[in-house]
Formats: sequence, structure tokens, C-alpha cells
Amino acid sequence: MEILRDTVIKIDLSAIAQNMRNICQLMGKDTAVAAVVKANAYGHGVLKLAPVLMNSGASLLAVATLEEALEIRSCYPYPVLVMGLTPDSCLHYVIEHDIIQTVDSLHQALLLEEIAARQHKTGTIHLKIDTGFHRIGFPSSENGLEEALSVCRLPHLQTDGIFSHLALLNDETNQLQFDRFQNAVQFLESEGCHFHYKHIADSIALVDYPQYRLNLVRAGALIYGLRGFHKGYVSVRQALTFETKICHISSLKKGEGVSYDYAWRAPEDTRVGTLPFGYADGYPRNLFQKGRVTIHGVSCPIVGVICMDQCMVDLTLVPEARIGDRVIIYGDGTENTLDIQAVSQLAQTNKNEIVSRLSERPRRIYYGL
Ligand SMILES: *Cc1c(COP(=O)(O)O)cnc(C)c1O
Repeated sequence: MEILRDTVIKIDLSAIAQNMRNICQLMGKDTAVAAVVKANAYGHGVLKLAPVLMNSGASLLAVATLEEALEIRSCYPYPVLVMGLTPDSCLHYVIEHDIIQTVDSLHQALLLEEIAARQHKTGTIHLKIDTGFHRIGFPSSENGLEEALSVCRLPHLQTDGIFSHLALLNDETNQLQFDRFQNAVQFLESEGCHFHYKHIADSIALVDYPQYRLNLVRAGALIYGLRGFHKGYVSVRQALTFETKICHISSLKKGEGVSYDYAWRAPEDTRVGTLPFGYADGYPRNLFQKGRVTIHGVSCPIVGVICMDQCMVDLTLVPEARIGDRVIIYGDGTENTLDIQAVSQLAQTNKNEIVSRLSERPRRIYYGL
């Protein structure tokens, strides 16, 4: 479809493919990689990325919700794991569309069992164990594990995996969680359960804690080139850039205001550019007085309150700037651009929030493959 706007998000698919291959290479042949593509592949566009990731070494795709899984299923036959819980009333879709569902209660397992039996199918599930994060999962207590064992024994459900999630506070708490997880696995295996996949490591843990890789890791941020690791290393590069063009230029006299409340006033006569993006595109409104964009290789401050669809930039440092000139909102960090890491620090959040909150409005443009 024709693109009718200058504000766009460009995605380098060769970076995505190379990041995925580098992660798989680091993991070696005994550890598979699940590509985490929840939240529309962290804003990058799941339908375009899914085949690239699967063709670059991913063994399965992991999402947060059933709707995200069904979106993938509407286009591809790839194995898809829903890492969150699905409402009781929707569990039949899991069976109908061969989605791998996370289960953390006997109650939901029995519902899935009944639906699968009725459809003469076998449902595929992963058990989630709560080792301390206290989000979802069977408690790692004796009672919790007994309940998990009852789930393993249901005839129309194949318990293909077991997993947990680390809080990543420090080495000590990580190890405690990992030990609880290993205990749970050992108990269930000693009772005759068999798990094809055991997994606990996310992007940070899969690099920093090789001892926690088991035979599957869940790589999210890392496949988009967003680095969070501290101890280990893997070569990845950011795939996403966010760009626009100057759409208007105003000449302000000293003391004149810009945007709501005139929260910024020109300290002297100033050329101010208008940029056609705002917080409805996912740009953080709290970057007021902090945001910068790059024009002609020069970092220029955003001035005034950021509006829903537009914002203004001080052009003092780029007197040559004209309407139609290219503006880098999120770059790769070179040539005075702010990368996702730098933007997240300015906005006092994390990298995943910056990319996953990018709205659908800016069109995604793919290149590189
Ligand atoms: C989102 C998510 C991941 C991926 O996290 P990253 O830090 O982006 O790698 C892994 N596991 C679970 C359960 C998640 O919800």
C-alpha cells in the first residue's frame, strides 16, 4: 500500500536475520532458540519478521497472548507458544489452531483436556513454574508440583515443555530461582514426566548465565539488536530506525512561545521546524525538554510540549535546514543520532518499552533482504 506520510519506521531485515544467527551460534547445537515476537515483534511487525526468524535458526515463536498467536497462525504453520494465560472461554481456539499454551493450573488443563478429547486431538502445553517472580506459574511448593504432576498425566495433553522466568535481581536470587526450577523438573521427571523443552533464560540470561541455557532459551530484545547483557557478549545490531521530514518552518521573534502553554519561549530570534510525529506514534510525551532529533548529522533539541501528532524542533544549529529535509528520531547511535538505548535513558524507561509502544500509525518499511 502506498505510504502517504513522511513519518516511518524502517526495519533492516538483514540485521534481524544476522542477530538471530549469531544468537543460535552462541547457543550451540544443544540449545534451541525461541524467538519472542509478542507485542507485534516489539513494534517491528510480526508477520514480516516471523519467516525471517524461522529461516535464521529459531525453533519456535513465543508470544504473550492468544490473539498474537492466532495472528501468526492466520499466515504461517510455525510452532507458536503463548507464554501468558488464556481465558477459560477461549481455550478451544488453542486446540483448534494447534497453539502451544502455557498452563499453570489443573483447572485450565482439565478444560483443555476436555476440548482436545472432544475434538479427537492432543493439545500441546508448556507448564509454567513460579520460582519466585510471582507473576504466573504453579507454586514450586509440594502442593504446586503435585498439581503440575496431575496435569502431566492427562491423556489428551502433551506436556512438551516446562519453564520459569527470572527476576534478574542478582546472582544469588537467580541461582535460588534456578535451583527451584531444577528441583521441580527433577521431581516431575522422577514421576515419569518427559519434557522436550526446559527453559528459563531470556535475552539477558542467555548471554550472561550460560549455565541457565538448558535446551531452550527465549530471545526477545536481543533479536531486535537491543542489548541488556553485562557479563557475556554476542554481536547484535539495532534493526529499527524512526524517521520523518520537516513539514513546516516558523521564524519566531525573541520571547514568542511554542506549543501548549507556551512552555518554551524563544530566548532570541529562532527558526523552529515542525515535525509530523507525536505521542500517538509512540514517541514518549515525557521527552518534553529532553528529546532530541538529528538533522543533517546535528543533534537538535525538541522544543515545547510534544503534541499528539506533531512536535517542534529548534533549528538554530542547522541554518541550512529546509522543509522536506530528513530527520532521524531514533537512529543507530552513529552520526549524532540517539539509539533506542539513549532514548530509553532520556525517557527514564527501558528499551523494550520504547519499541513496543511504537503505535501502528507510523508505517513499517522493510529492507535488507
Ligand atoms: C517477554 C518475555 C521474554 C523475552 O524477554 P527479553 O528480555 O526481551 O528477552 C522471555 N520470557 C518471557 C516469559 C517473556 O514474557
